[in-house]
Amino acid sequence: MSDTIKTDVLIVGAGPIGLFAVFELGLLDIKAHLVDILDKVGGQCAELYPEKPIYDIPGIPFITGHGLSDALMRQIKPFGPTFHLGEMVTTLEKIGDPLFRVATDRGKVFETKSVVIAAGGGSFQPKPPPINGIEPYENTSVFYAVRKMDAFRDKRLLIVGGGDSADEFRGAPDSVNKMRALVAAGDMDLKIGQVSGLEGGDGQLSACSVKGNDGVATRIEVDTMLPFFGLTMKLGPVADWGLKMEDELIPVDTAAFETSMRGLFAIGDINTYPGKLKLILSGFHEAALMAQKAHRYVYPDKKLVFQYTTSSTNLQKKLGVA
Ligand SMILES: Cc1cc2nc3c(=O)[nH]c(=O)nc-3n(C[C@H](O)[C@H](O)[C@H](O)COP(=O)(O)OP(=O)(O)OC[C@H]3O[C@@H](n4cnc5c(N)ncnc54)[C@H](O)[C@@H]3O)c2cc1C
Repeated sequence: MSDTIKTDVLIVGAGPIGLFAVFELGLLDIKAHLVDILDKVGGQCAELYPEKPIYDIPGIPFITGHGLSDALMRQIKPFGPTFHLGEMVTTLEKIGDPLFRVATDRGKVFETKSVVIAAGGGSFQPKPPPINGIEPYENTSVFYAVRKMDAFRDKRLLIVGGGDSADEFRGAPDSVNKMRALVAAGDMDLKIGQVSGLEGGDGQLSACSVKGNDGVATRIEVDTMLPFFGLTMKLGPVADWGLKMEDELIPVDTAAFETSMRGLFAIGDINTYPGKLKLILSGFHEAALMAQKAHRYVYPDKKLVFQYTTSSTNLQKKLGVA
């Protein structure tokens, strides 16, 4: 286990709301670390609809999911947040009033004055593929995510999923074109059909049968299979942190979006309160009010003076523009 990382605030989830929380906290001199299970920032915007348009971000008539994540990253750059991507927050323990010990599945331990749960709908989980007998191979020769490409170098890979029929793929057109170029160059084979059988032993695959649309099965020798059948969202470990939950959501007050535990906040899609709308703009508002209250825990002796970014030289200095 590594040394404990001490921080003002730990944000669970680097979706759009977790990212904007960095900005609001940063304006108040509060440093943040963020942990996200995904290997990239942006949450649902980046994972579920990177190319789709969003039309209801105030003041921005049109932006894609990916564009919004990028813009938020530029906006929070002056505050130098530390990201811990590809890690899941597994445990959260109250050790003071308020002080928390938070740990990840990769052995990192944080000690933090406040925690902001911005975990959205929870963790993205792979949808199980319709392939009989796949379980014994999972995590040994069948993987549902590519965390490190090097792990697959020189392996015979079978990638499954991505299309409904022979000539329609759900992937971004650019990715589909790249895939077709690899096929044309003889660097990969494309087979339209369904995986109908697996061969191997002791968790190691040796071959797969692929039944084509013509009903004919082909045997393909493989070392590794990567099935991609989409993602669903599961709440995950958040449910085990001793918080009161309502329908897998965390009830909060609407003055500071604090939970029943002092110093533990929940903002964005993960929270619930009367009138809650699961919109990005609601989460941004929640982040601003959360930061005001977090300031009390981080700097109990300092008075907070309300300031506008337009007119405060102090805030502009923090943003690196004055
Ligand atoms: C197809 C689609 C279209 C949409 N269009 C719009 C729109 O037009 N306008 C709009 O306002 N909203 C839209 N939304 C909703 C919007 O995307 C959500 O409101 C927003 O993403 C919520 O942000 P969040 O940061 O709260 O959560 P999320 O975006 O869900 O991010 C949460 C992050 O937390 C991480 N996480 C969860 N549990 C843990 C854990 N234990 N440890 C570490 N990390 C964890 C997840 O991996 C995830 O990255 C749309 C949603 C979808 C699916």
